[in-house]
Amino acid sequence: MEIELPSGSRVRPGKLVCVGRNYALHAAEMKSEVPQQPILFLKPSTALVRSGANIVIPKMSGEVHHEVELVLVIGKRVRSVPESEAMSCVEGYALGLDVTARDLQAEAKKGGKPWAVAKGFDTFAPLGDIVAAERIADLNDLDIRLTRNGDVVQSGNTGDMIFSPAYLIHYISQIFTLEPGDLIFTGTPEGVGPVKAGDVLEATADGLPTLAVRVTTAA
Ligand code: MG
Repeated sequence: MEIELPSGSRVRPGKLVCVGRNYALHAAEMKSEVPQQPILFLKPSTALVRSGANIVIPKMSGEVHHEVELVLVIGKRVRSVPESEAMSCVEGYALGLDVTARDLQAEAKKGGKPWAVAKGFDTFAPLGDIVAAERIADLNDLDIRLTRNGDVVQSGNTGDMIFSPAYLIHYISQIFTLEPGDLIFTGTPEGVGPVKAGDVLEATADGLPTLAVRVTTAA
């Protein structure tokens, strides 16, 4: 799938880099320790869907969770970028959901296996419309909310991230060259929980377009 960057160019995201456990209260609700360095995993670009689409609960999972996240949209190719210059490669921001098959993730954690299956199903990376980076005054003080069927289930502030967006880009770019269209899911605040067929999820944040998706089950 191609996405349109704020500059107007259309690109196919090469990779979705996701950060685990980047809010202390979410680490606590997962009964996990606060990490010393960012915990990274990847989703395939085939997991991407846009606002208005459906999340499909796969047959392989009996427990799918929502995780609302701020997404950084890369506009410039960078490698090993210093933290002080890191934000210059970010062209825009969006709301995203890191949809997670929590039962499969728990099994993987227990067995010391990767999270690719738990995190990578088709439709497991909904992405809202992208706003140009310069339109957000303070990225480090952004309230992010998720409602399920109208009830607030997640509410956080980007200022509570353990690793800031600038540090994340600095860190990630030492491992993966970042390219235009790459997406960084910056981690979820507390309040993750299960979804079921028929649920409507709406992610909101000041200045960012609302991301709305409906949950269905695999045919
Ligand atoms: Mg997440």
